[in-house]
Amino acid sequence: MIPLCNLHTHSTFCDGKQTPEENVLAAIDKGLFSLGFSSHAPYGEHDKEGCLSAGNIEAYRREILRLKEKYSDRIEILLGIEQDYFSPTLEGEYDYVIGSVHYIKKDGAFVAIDHSYDRLKNGAERQFGADMTELCREYYRTVADVADKTDCDIIGHFDIVTKFNEKYLLFDENDSVYRNMALEAVDTLLESDRIFEVNTGAVSRGWRKHPYPSEFIIKRIVDKKGRLTLTSDAHNAEYLTYGFLDAAYYLKALGVKELWIYKSGGYETFSL
Ligand SMILES: [Zn+2]
Ligand SMILES: [Zn+2]
Repeated sequence: MIPLCNLHTHSTFCDGKQTPEENVLAAIDKGLFSLGFSSHAPYGEHDKEGCLSAGNIEAYRREILRLKEKYSDRIEILLGIEQDYFSPTLEGEYDYVIGSVHYIKKDGAFVAIDHSYDRLKNGAERQFGADMTELCREYYRTVADVADKTDCDIIGHFDIVTKFNEKYLLFDENDSVYRNMALEAVDTLLESDRIFEVNTGAVSRGWRKHPYPSEFIIKRIVDKKGRLTLTSDAHNAEYLTYGFLDAAYYLKALGVKELWIYKSGGYETFSL
């Protein structure tokens, strides 16, 4: 019923709680057939916290490749990376890249989208005159360009701008202006034929009841025959498959029939 595979995993190389090897052992314990590591690539000069640095990116690559070899008879380990829209150009080979927007830039200043409610709210006040519609417009303009900018395989947490908006205190997610901005970005990315992730990370951390993206976005992806994968965006090895069963029911109810998984060196479908 649920794919025992997760391509979105953070470790002590960025902002995760456990070492990569502890994550591998937890994944084996949970019966996963594949586990992909996706440390945050350096964000850039505006934020040095919680991501790889230019100085430890090679150590990260070496460690994941060591684990890939060491546990090859028990689990398929993948060397991935989560490339932010503003991350410096990626160097070196990776099994896959997740392209994500964690910051937007307005008039030369950055606004952190998913760091905390206060940073988002302050950023909106500082750069957008507290106009959340304009902030969302800039967010989705950036998201629409994330595939071209990062050359990613997977689109990370498509509507993470809703992270601190569970009770619609920041903006109305039912508003047609908001929805059209999101749908335009979905349509642009669907043309680039990347895989969208259904991400349970905000559910495991108590921010949202449902995984990203929201229902109306998943329906558009289904209508246009886009591809989806299920990930946990785990920062804790306990949560490698957090919420996967609930997410599977959620997706089935929205008309999703299959997910894309990584197995034996490539992507294949998994029937829900
Ligand atoms: Zn992310
Ligand atoms: Zn992540």
